[in-house]
Amino acid sequence: MKRSMRYTVLLVLVAGAFLFSRCSKDGGIVLLSIEDEIALGLQADSAIAADPEEFPILSRAENQFVYEYFDGMLAEILASDEINYRDDFDWSITIIDKDIMNAFALPGGKMYFYTGLIKYLENSAQIAGVLAHEVAHVDRRHSNKQLTKAYGVDFLLSLLVDDDDSQYLQIASDLAQGMAQLQFSRDYEYEADEYSIRYLLDTEYDPKGIEGFFLKLEAEGQTAETFEFLSTHPSDENRIENLNLVWEENGSVVGEIFQEEYNALIQHLPR
Ligand SMILES: [Zn+2]
Repeated sequence: MKRSMRYTVLLVLVAGAFLFSRCSKDGGIVLLSIEDEIALGLQADSAIAADPEEFPILSRAENQFVYEYFDGMLAEILASDEINYRDDFDWSITIIDKDIMNAFALPGGKMYFYTGLIKYLENSAQIAGVLAHEVAHVDRRHSNKQLTKAYGVDFLLSLLVDDDDSQYLQIASDLAQGMAQLQFSRDYEYEADEYSIRYLLDTEYDPKGIEGFFLKLEAEGQTAETFEFLSTHPSDENRIENLNLVWEENGSVVGEIFQEEYNALIQHLPR
């Protein structure tokens, strides 16, 4: 058999096997396994830690109050019945001390929040809304699907078949550089918004926390080009409509904004 032919046959076989074996818990087809996603996330996380100029990480040891705030909030969100991969992924939050309005998530559960966004938001429900949106990108395995689109099935299969470290490194470095600006499709943004509400319904936080953020941006005529949230369509009116539909379908519950908790957080951030 010619080499290219052999490769095609192998590809079809492997792809077939994946179609049967790699269904995500929500029934969608994904290419990377849970372990692959965690491995990629870890590599990208190392690349981020190794670049303090681009990613000045707020030290955990010196900012216990801030990290306890976020760890506690994350634990509450992950306790939601809607979460598929609570015990499978390696969930964590890292704060980046930079005046950028952004938050982003790596495959496998590592998430990042910029102090610029924390200060722009106005209460704990808004922070929970954004965090829950990032959790949804991870738990709904959006970056897996997005990576498949960006790198192609051939490349990702060769990565899985060859177990080639240099290719992992290449993707990891791309992730570290570009994840903050990664454009999820509009459908994924809608889904992440929807699940942000669904997760928060299982907490005391106001489930529409994320809407407060969109409304604030809209009122100020702001667009945040770097923000993964808004990279598809900044403060899209349809997005707010979509949020309200999901909220109404789920009983129009109004929760707490936890203003004092948020004020205390701001007091503990570096000036
Ligand atoms: Zn998003």
